Amino acid sequence: MANGNLLCDFCSAPGPAWRYPARSFIAYSAANIAGESVGDWAACEECHVLIEANDRPGLAQRSLDELIAKHPEAVMAAPALYQDLAGLHQKFFEFRCGSAALITTVAP
Ligand SMILES: [Zn+2]
Repeated sequence: MANGNLLCDFCSAPGPAWRYPARSFIAYSAANIAGESVGDWAACEECHVLIEANDRPGLAQRSLDELIAKHPEAVMAAPALYQDLAGLHQKFFEFRCGSAALITTVAP
């Protein structure tokens, strides 16, 4: 049950701590950042806080910032990417079907 290979589904941070149950859905593909969403979404601590606060603009902005940090050329398309990410996250909020659960790797 290691979560070392998991990435945050929102900002791609490694080792996300939270898991959101969600129904699978097909997201439209945009700049290779989206595709089919199958089941649960993983979220790191920072994204979890934004999700719990329902701070959708903050969540989209964070995802965009992280995407541009990894792919600096993406800054050219930043406004469109922001819309894509916000749209994808809106799907997440629609399809999530439960409360966040901690991903535990080691029993306390
Ligand atoms: Zn994250």
